[in-house]
Amino acid sequence: MADKSYLDWPFFEQRHAALERELDAWAAANVRDDHGEGHDTAAVDAQCRKLVRALGDAGWLRHAIGGTAYGGALDVIDTRAICLVRETLARHNGLADFAFAMQGLGSGAISLFGSAANKQAYLPRVAKGEAIAAFALSEPQAGSDVAAMQCAAVQDGEHYVLDGEKTWISNGGIADFYVVFARTGEAPGARGISAFIVDRDTPGFEIAERINVIAPHPLARLKFSGCRIPASQRLGEAGQGFKVAMATLDVFRTSVAGASLGFARRALDEALAHAQSRKMFGQTLADFQLTQAKLAQMATGVDASALLTYRAAWQRDQGRKVTREAAMAKMTATETAQQVIDAAVQMFGGMGVVSEHPVERLYREIRALRIYEGATEVQQLIIARELLREGKE
Ligand SMILES: Cc1cc2nc3c(=O)[nH]c(=O)nc-3n(C[C@H](O)[C@H](O)[C@H](O)COP(=O)(O)OP(=O)(O)OC[C@H]3O[C@@H](n4cnc5c(N)ncnc54)[C@H](O)[C@@H]3O)c2cc1C
Repeated sequence: MADKSYLDWPFFEQRHAALERELDAWAAANVRDDHGEGHDTAAVDAQCRKLVRALGDAGWLRHAIGGTAYGGALDVIDTRAICLVRETLARHNGLADFAFAMQGLGSGAISLFGSAANKQAYLPRVAKGEAIAAFALSEPQAGSDVAAMQCAAVQDGEHYVLDGEKTWISNGGIADFYVVFARTGEAPGARGISAFIVDRDTPGFEIAERINVIAPHPLARLKFSGCRIPASQRLGEAGQGFKVAMATLDVFRTSVAGASLGFARRALDEALAHAQSRKMFGQTLADFQLTQAKLAQMATGVDASALLTYRAAWQRDQGRKVTREAAMAKMTATETAQQVIDAAVQMFGGMGVVSEHPVERLYREIRALRIYEGATEVQQLIIARELLREGKE
């Protein structure tokens, strides 16, 4: 039985512990550990659609959107709730966590910047799992360097005409709509970008390529050729797209730490159970001090990650700035989870590298989290920039 005493930490309210308990029970009953879809794109797509629907039917997606009038659990997205949901789902199944996270990230800009009509048209369907969302920021030549974006939107009366490419887009291929960031040219660099909602059946929009990754989930390169978008689908002011993207990532970056924490907790649970049952040299693996040192390191890493994650989530829920805290949480939780999972694989010996073994899956699941929504190096620069700025104030 996993240790849940962290739910008594002062960062949480009673409703958070109840949320974790209920979701954990739901996931145990409804989310199978191994869906067996492997790298089969059609099977992964089908499983992802099924998970979105199941998460919507059970009411969990209400936490991914803001606005009770549109089906949200609260008027403002509760960061502690999305971290707990991601942590809990990640402990059970990586694709279930992905399905939840993308509904939030993909619709986050609508929750934060959409008009009442935009919110009414999309958010209730996202919350019920009836519409699948995606967030399209990255391009082949603009990943960490977002301001190098080339995809362009030119205003033509009451429309914008979109041309260009996006890549590494999660839910690409199965999403019903995409929040797309494009250069509108009000100013050079980051100040000349706007955000738009693009429906999947818009003429001129196509999935150019599906991409297979280490831990399979729907992912694609998108192409826009003369794609006409009504100006009413623009989110926020023209030229404010960078702000829209950063505000959305600000909400969800801490939840990447939450998911990493879930993967790490699962690895620790698996390692503990294995170490206590694996017989060798006339005792168990857990009887060796070398193993105990590993377990101590893993458990301390998990708690340190949890403290940073829920500190950042709590601070954001207080309405305070979390640029530095979210970066610390994301960097520490993703890097620590990789180390914890690697230690678990090592303890399992040969079993640890057998395809679809729980720790082998975790080993693949965690890798991309150190890269997306700002690679570890980007988080280091953010933390240092904040420190140096504080030094000058
Ligand atoms: C599985 C997966 C899902 C994704 N989903 C989405 C999505 O849904 N929507 C979306 O828009 N994007 C998505 N991305 C894209 C992701 O955000 C980018 O991959 C990420 O921003 C890095 O960009 P890049 O791949 O172009 O790498 P680059 O920008 O080329 O960076 C490569 C590496 O350089 C290093 N680096 C970066 N900056 C610095 C620096 N200043 N100093 C030193 N080293 C540095 C880092 O180690 C980085 O990993 C996804 C990516 C993956 C892998």
